[in-house]
Amino acid sequence: MERTEVNTLGEFGLIDHLTRNNETKQASTLLSVGDDAAVIDHFGKQTVISTDLLVDGVHFDLMYTPLKHLGYKSIVVNLSDIYAMNATPTHVTVSIAFSNRFSVEALDELYEGMYAACEKYNVDLIGGDTSTSPKGLVISVTAIGEVTPNEFVTRSGAKKGDLICVSGHLGGAYLGLTLLEREKKIFLESPGVQPDLENEAYIVGKLLKPEARKDVIEWLAENNIKPTSMMDVSDGLSSEVLHICKQSQCGAVLYEEKIPIHDDARQFAYKLELDPTACALSGGEDYELLFTIDQSDYEKMVLNEEVSVIGYITEPEKKPTIITKGGNTYNLVAQGWQHG
Ligand code: ADP
Ligand code: MG
Repeated sequence: MERTEVNTLGEFGLIDHLTRNNETKQASTLLSVGDDAAVIDHFGKQTVISTDLLVDGVHFDLMYTPLKHLGYKSIVVNLSDIYAMNATPTHVTVSIAFSNRFSVEALDELYEGMYAACEKYNVDLIGGDTSTSPKGLVISVTAIGEVTPNEFVTRSGAKKGDLICVSGHLGGAYLGLTLLEREKKIFLESPGVQPDLENEAYIVGKLLKPEARKDVIEWLAENNIKPTSMMDVSDGLSSEVLHICKQSQCGAVLYEEKIPIHDDARQFAYKLELDPTACALSGGEDYELLFTIDQSDYEKMVLNEEVSVIGYITEPEKKPTIITKGGNTYNLVAQGWQHG
């Protein structure tokens, strides 16, 4: 494969190259890449902003993460934060720092993934920053979104009696990570052995190509359901439920049997002798939405097959707990559960 050194283009040449086909889609984008700053008109809406930093060797491993997937994921995880505010993402800025190990072709792959995500979620890439770095790769994405005034949803509005809901399935990304880490170890010990990931497409996909739950946010709006609190599940269900309880000053009860775990994830967990529920509670990077709704929205909510009702909110005096399939009650702790 061809390899073009970044220094043949220079910094400005590289920025021009990476943004050569960048087109804007949003009417709100008044000025995009190319000036000192971008200009956005939010037409009377409120603006929501979130930033994430991804560091090579900390947040991703280039041994098993294709650059295109990394680009896609780095955008999607930021959009997930915007959706988690009940807002619609409209713009992103992307900043990168990279060593001379990265060629123009490699950065092109990264940007291909980023543009694919921007296309799919209808957001404009309106700027960023570019730097070299002594080693590795650092990616920082800032996502901007809009929301009808005061329709944003925080982590602090859950109240006693509310139902706790979660979208999609949990634990898959953690199991995908476990699988890829295992295959990496085997590969490093005996480089001839090619990993067989064929049968584990679901869990590997959950880790390497996550999606943000735009569909769920749109469905909630169409059905006139405004969650009382919401956040995305990036660190594992336990830790996120604890955040909502702390910020809403309430307790919670979860039912193990209601926690949605995909069959492929469950099967793989059994293969490794892991507890699938523990993977859902403590694993991370699922990027599903966790939210609470008023009981009066229950009848409407159950019509959405992408969402599971997994428990309810209690008074603050009660510690957040989980009731197992066997009927035992445990306290939720950040890394899963624990005897009360
Ligand atoms: P400044 O010196 O003011 O920081 P730059 O030369 O870094 O300006 O950036 C020029 C333009 O290119 C700006 O619009 C900036 O947002 C955009 N830009 C810089 N780096 C990137 C990048 N990696 N991806 C997308 N846009 C970028
Ligand atoms: Mg700059």
